[in-house]
Amino acid sequence: MSLWGKYLTEKKFEKLNKDIRVNTLIIGGGITGLTTLYYLKEKESVCLVDASFIGEGVTKNTTGKLTYLQEDIYSNLEKNRNTEIAVQYLHSQKQAISLIKEIIEKEKIDCDLERVDSYIFASQEKDVKKIEAENNFLKRQKINVKEKILPFSVPSFKAICVEDTYVFNPIKYLNGLKEILKLKPIYEQTKIQKIEFKNNQYTCYANDKKIIANQVIVACHYPFFLFPFLLPLKSHIEKSYLIATKTDKYKKASCINVSNPSISMRYYKDGNQVYQIFLTNSHNTAVKQNDKTNFENVKQFFGLKEEEIVAKWSNVDIITDDKLPYIGELKDNLYIATGLNTWGMTNGILSAKILSDAIKGIDNPYQELFKIYRNNRYQWKSLLPNVITSTIAFVGSKFQKKKWYSNNLMFKKVNGKTIAIYKDEHKKEHIVYTTCPHFGCSLIFNEEEKTWDCPCHSSRFNLDGKCIKGPSLYDISYKK
Ligand SMILES: Cc1cc2nc3c(=O)[nH]c(=O)nc-3n(C[C@H](O)[C@H](O)[C@H](O)COP(=O)(O)OP(=O)(O)OC[C@H]3O[C@@H](n4cnc5c(N)ncnc54)[C@H](O)[C@@H]3O)c2cc1C
Repeated sequence: MSLWGKYLTEKKFEKLNKDIRVNTLIIGGGITGLTTLYYLKEKESVCLVDASFIGEGVTKNTTGKLTYLQEDIYSNLEKNRNTEIAVQYLHSQKQAISLIKEIIEKEKIDCDLERVDSYIFASQEKDVKKIEAENNFLKRQKINVKEKILPFSVPSFKAICVEDTYVFNPIKYLNGLKEILKLKPIYEQTKIQKIEFKNNQYTCYANDKKIIANQVIVACHYPFFLFPFLLPLKSHIEKSYLIATKTDKYKKASCINVSNPSISMRYYKDGNQVYQIFLTNSHNTAVKQNDKTNFENVKQFFGLKEEEIVAKWSNVDIITDDKLPYIGELKDNLYIATGLNTWGMTNGILSAKILSDAIKGIDNPYQELFKIYRNNRYQWKSLLPNVITSTIAFVGSKFQKKKWYSNNLMFKKVNGKTIAIYKDEHKKEHIVYTTCPHFGCSLIFNEEEKTWDCPCHSSRFNLDGKCIKGPSLYDISYKK
């Protein structure tokens, strides 16, 4: 359970129990989908569905920073693309921060929004040049950047900071939106499994129920369809490990380094209680998976004691090859927002604005920058590595030493299919198939979080095989 998990409210919406017809359907109730519904709330015929519950996707597991200082993104965009694209991205992120502030202030949402200094730092000497390049770009854009000592005791060879950025509690923000939107048609535990386009309208299937819509917005993090978008070929999945501890000192600061693996920290203050959130050990899920040592590595790196820890969790996000999200129309009134590159608090808000503007027929200044078919060569930059690493992950997952991940696991072949039997601390057996229904990769047992995780496209299943994160549309439960 993440630090934010305890803020999820009891208020639930009902499951879709009849066929319906709407003008606009939003699929996914994370920060992207719910904020899109907020922007479209004046529209008469709009509804939102979520496969699980609002906020329980990737948004629940974020760090919750609202910053435009995002590693060394600007100098990279400037070097690999051009200055104009880097400047536009900077403006888009600043605009996203203004937009969310505007919503929070207008609607008086209590989500612990706080203005803090946001740092980037060189955790290794060789990264000092990256910090200098980023500093140089920001100064040319008249951003007030300061060189400062990092307010955390981790190795830092150089750090810069800006002062006009924020942190917040993402689940309290979604709770606030839920309250404002409570009279809108929102259906939870309603997973869209298929979309068909016929006679200029979409039929979206959720088990035996249908939603007919003129426009569909797919805001479900990883799209559950492959064509025509081919996302796996132009992106990879990055996973990171987070630990929250209690502390008695509060500093208005959030920090991230500029190399791999990511090192990221922030404070969170809820009333009198102060927490620190630490993140590191990030990796491409196709390359590495051993979840047993991953949290141990975070603990050791930051020198954390077990008794201080209040929450441990992991999170994944989609990293696109050209480092820009995909936001816009996929085809014929089918819209999508994905590949938010671990900056989905700002990019999710931006997606909501761009997509709701598109539905309202308003031009958005950033629609061109993030459009789906942008056809630059950087979009396909890692095509070959993506194919190779995914193939290695796929083949490797078939030969992994499955027992190695837990002493309480047994594997068996039943009718040619592998099943896994996990015995919990009460000796109760949990039996699942071990192949991901999405693409057929073999799942990896995540001992720490007691989930089955897909190394290829980040689907996750609980101990009893229920799919708790897509793109898989199906469970892996085994019935004797
Ligand atoms: C370790 C880590 C730290 C991060 N920290 C930050 C940060 O500090 N700042 C920042 O800006 N960004 C951060 N991010 C990125 C950010 O958390 C994500 O990009 C963002 O939360 C994605 O939001 P979303 O709404 O697109 O997806 P989600 O929150 O995953 O929402 C998608 C919803 O769609 C639903 N869904 C899925 N499939 C279906 C279906 N078939 N039918 C119906 N519903 C479906 C799911 O149940 C889910 O609720 C971080 C990411 C990681 C990995």
